[in-house]
Amino acid sequence: MAATLADDLSAIYDALFAAFGHQHWWPAKTPFETMVGAILAQNVSWTNAAQAVANLEDTGMLDPHLLAAADPADIAPLIVPSRFYNQKAERIREFSGVYVTEFQADPAAMAAVETGELRERLLALRGFGKETADTILLYACEKPVFVVDAYTRRIFSRYGLLPEGASYDLTQRLFAENLEEDVELFNDYHAQIVRLGNAVCKKSPLCDRCPIREVRGALRCAGGRR
Ligand code: SF4
Repeated sequence: MAATLADDLSAIYDALFAAFGHQHWWPAKTPFETMVGAILAQNVSWTNAAQAVANLEDTGMLDPHLLAAADPADIAPLIVPSRFYNQKAERIREFSGVYVTEFQADPAAMAAVETGELRERLLALRGFGKETADTILLYACEKPVFVVDAYTRRIFSRYGLLPEGASYDLTQRLFAENLEEDVELFNDYHAQIVRLGNAVCKKSPLCDRCPIREVRGALRCAGGRR
């Protein structure tokens, strides 16, 4: 019997896991830290975002009530490493206000909201795109939502499983419709993709080192350099 798309996506994950091991995401101590980290990670590397998170923590500001009440001008200097710090300071303050007033700063209360409804609420916040909202849904609220980023689109279009320039929604559907709704799998699959995109499937891909260049039989990367 021919392998299905579901088989292929599972085999690709297994190959990534075998090469890189479990990625243990999200690297945060609390769900709120994950939420703030998701905002700080917009358009920058995780290293930059992590430095900004550490600054907030070191100054005792990584607290939803304090951030909700803070002047963005006081938040901004702490998050300079994440770049776009004035905008991100506004976003963090606004999000923290919603987290406190609508969810009592309780991640369980937030996670209890139906997934589609919660996603709409997050997307209504200024500066919240689909990647930020879905990152919070998956990594902070443990909802089975597949997170898409630029690496996902690049890798899977090179692989031949997505058209070039595939939209966020089309890319998300590829995974959502072919994998079991499994929070743990979605968590680590996205983390593996980030690892591959960051270290191997770069702008100039290092195909010789790629653990998914040839997974098995016909399952190989259409764009891989031979
Ligand atoms: S084989 Fe090359 S192009 Fe294909 S996923 Fe791996 S690094 Fe990217």
